[in-house]
Amino acid sequence: MHNKVLVIYTGGTIGMVQDENGSLHPFAMERIYDVLPLLQHTSYSIDSCQLDHIIDSSNMTPSLWVDIANIIEKEYDNYDGFVVLHGTDTMAYTASALSFMFENLTKPIVLTGSQLPLGMLRSDGRDNIICALEIAAQQEVVIPEVCIFFQSHLYRGNRSTKVSAEHFDAFTSYNYPSLAKAGIDIEYKQHLIMPRAEQELVVRRQFDTHVAVLKLFPGIHPSVVRSIVNTPDLKGLIIETFGSGNAPTEEWFIDALKEGIDRGLVILDVTQCKSGAVKLRQYAASCDLDRIGVLSGHDITIEAAVTKMMYLLGNYGEDARMVRQLMEDSLRGEISK
Ligand code: ASP
Repeated sequence: MHNKVLVIYTGGTIGMVQDENGSLHPFAMERIYDVLPLLQHTSYSIDSCQLDHIIDSSNMTPSLWVDIANIIEKEYDNYDGFVVLHGTDTMAYTASALSFMFENLTKPIVLTGSQLPLGMLRSDGRDNIICALEIAAQQEVVIPEVCIFFQSHLYRGNRSTKVSAEHFDAFTSYNYPSLAKAGIDIEYKQHLIMPRAEQELVVRRQFDTHVAVLKLFPGIHPSVVRSIVNTPDLKGLIIETFGSGNAPTEEWFIDALKEGIDRGLVILDVTQCKSGAVKLRQYAASCDLDRIGVLSGHDITIEAAVTKMMYLLGNYGEDARMVRQLMEDSLRGEISK
C-alpha cells in the first residue's frame, strides 16, 4: 500500500512560474508534474488541492487558517501526511496557529515554501517541496506535529521564525533544536519530537483577534502606551520587553498596564531577544510586572504568542482564569517548561 500525501497550495513565491515573457504568475497545482516531473516516480502518491484564492501570505487571516484546517480535518483519515505550500512571510504564524488548532494530532502537517519561485532554475523550492513531501509520506518516524521544512531543516512550527528576506535558509528556531536535518539521508531526532496522542483529534476553530503587540523602546511616549492599552475591546496585549523580560519601572508605565489588567486585559511578557527566555523577578526591572499580574511568555516566539493568545481568547475567552493559566502552559511544545 502506497503512502499518501495531500498537498494544500495556499500561494506564495513557491507556486509561481515564469511565462514566455518572463513574468511570474501562480501555476495551477495540477501542473506540478510539469514543473517537477520527478514527482511522478515517488514511492508515495500525491494529491493536491488549493485555497479558493491563492494569496501572497501577507494577506493571511485567521479565517484562512480555518479553511486550511477544514481541508485537513475533512481528509484526515485519507492521507498519511499533509504538506501546506505557503508564502514565507507569515508561514511561522500559520504554522503556530495550526499547531494550536489541532489537538491530539497523530500525523505530520509540514509547511514549506521558497525564496525563489519553483519555475526558476535556481529555485530553492524544489528541494523544499521534495523533502517536505518525503517527510510527510514516511512512516519510519512518527511526527505528530505541525512543522516547517526549510533548507535542510525540519522545525517545530510554533518555534519557527522567518529570519532572512534574501537567503535560502530563511527560517530558524532559536529556542528549540530542529526536529530533523536533511542531508544524504533525512536524520530524524526522535527524542525532540512530540509523542503521538492517544486521544481523539480535536480541531478548534475560534480565534479572537482583539489582541495587540506593543514593542518597547527607550523613550516610548506615555500617550502611545496608554492609547494601545486603552484600545476599545482589546482583550490581549503582548509587550515585547528587554532582555529577560524587563521594562521601565516608571509609575506611569506600570499604572497604565495595571489599569488594563484590572479591566480584564491579559498581558503577556515576551522578550525582544532572539533567544532565551523571560524570567520575571530576575531583575528589579520586572518585579512590578509580576506584581501587577503580567504573565510570562517564557521563551515563546512572537508568532506563537500572537496566535496562542487569539486561540485562547477565542476558545476559552469566557473563563479568564483558564486563559491566564493556559497562556503560561506549554500546549504544543511552544515553550520550554
Ligand atoms: N511575499 C511572499 C509571501 O509570503 C514571499 C514568499 O513567498 O516567500 O507570500
